[in-house]
Amino acid sequence: MTHDEYFPGSNERLHAWIVGQRSQGRTKCWVCGHDWSKSNAQFRRAQTHHIERKSHCYPEYAHVECNLFTSCEQCHMGPLATMSHALQLAHKLKNDPENFNLQMWLHCRDGPVLRDYEPGNERVTQAEVDLELDALGA
Ligand SMILES: [Zn+2]
Repeated sequence: MTHDEYFPGSNERLHAWIVGQRSQGRTKCWVCGHDWSKSNAQFRRAQTHHIERKSHCYPEYAHVECNLFTSCEQCHMGPLATMSHALQLAHKLKNDPENFNLQMWLHCRDGPVLRDYEPGNERVTQAEVDLELDALGA
């Protein structure tokens, strides 16, 4: 049984997010700023990156909007492969603020029932995201 048979609708959710981003005029790679409305160079095709790797996600959370990230192929293979989650989430907050949701994003790997986090003991904290956001100049 494939993922999509097991969780019907999850790909529709992914595609709806992509269409929504484009319809809001969001046509740039969040890392390098390459703009697909101006150029569709073969090596910089638009891709959707999952901030928490799909293989690390509870399947029903893989395609939640807060886990999705717009990048070009080159950034997907390059800097995103080793970028910290805090920095990726700062890019999320900068480029897609209405879908930024740190608590929901923590569910991606931790599942439907979040562990009882001690304050400041989360895998990623809002303070870490805010520091990265400052560094991005946002
Ligand atoms: Zn890029």
